[in-house]
Amino acid sequence: MEKDVDINKIGRQHAEMDNFFTGGFTTRSSNAEQKQPKIDRAAIAEAAKELEKIADETRQCRKCDLGSLRTNAVPGEGAPKARIVFVGEGPGADEDAQGRPFVGRAGQLLDKVIEACGLKRSEVFICNILKCRPPGNRDPRADEIINCFPYLQRQLEIIGPEIIVALGAPAAKTLLNTSKAIGQLRGQFHEYYAGLDRPPIKVMPTYHTAYLLRNYSQENRRRVWEDMKKVLAELNLPVP
Ligand code: URA
Repeated sequence: MEKDVDINKIGRQHAEMDNFFTGGFTTRSSNAEQKQPKIDRAAIAEAAKELEKIADETRQCRKCDLGSLRTNAVPGEGAPKARIVFVGEGPGADEDAQGRPFVGRAGQLLDKVIEACGLKRSEVFICNILKCRPPGNRDPRADEIINCFPYLQRQLEIIGPEIIVALGAPAAKTLLNTSKAIGQLRGQFHEYYAGLDRPPIKVMPTYHTAYLLRNYSQENRRRVWEDMKKVLAELNLPVP
């Protein structure tokens, strides 16, 4: 009977998700389409090529044990010159099976958040700190993060986003090199340094959508939406 309760809960959460993140919002014309600064096609094609090289490297990677445990590496996907990059923790079972980031339940909620912002998934870039799934979805280990982080650093260098949205504590702590809790970090912009010769990239830490699903309160959803509104305002995008 516990199964029935879970199914009801999942159904209710989906309905609430729709209402909260997309209900009543018009998302027909995309924010990014309206406001995206013009980037030349050659630069986009070059970035796509470089990102694919990194993706291939992650598929061959054996720097840690996760390389021999994965079904697929999950390098990340999206617009090669996205203004916003979402960074999660690491692939789960669905992502490992498909080789794509955020395609399970947490991913469906992330899609709702992106839509609620008036954006399309294809207009942002979505990836993770770890490119391979830790067994049983355990927390990433420090040595795994140290081995894997250079892939993300290179992705961020190529994409050159204006804002990184760090989803959850592992992403925020890794990008910001801090041990502060996500509750302390979220809601304000911080800075990620991609190199001494480059301007810092703004980072907005917020709750991971998997955390939101587990702690599905109006208050937590409101907090994520407040964080995303700050991101939109910073990019001069209309808040739907
Ligand atoms: N959680 C993550 O952190 N990343 C994914 O890709 C999926 C779920």
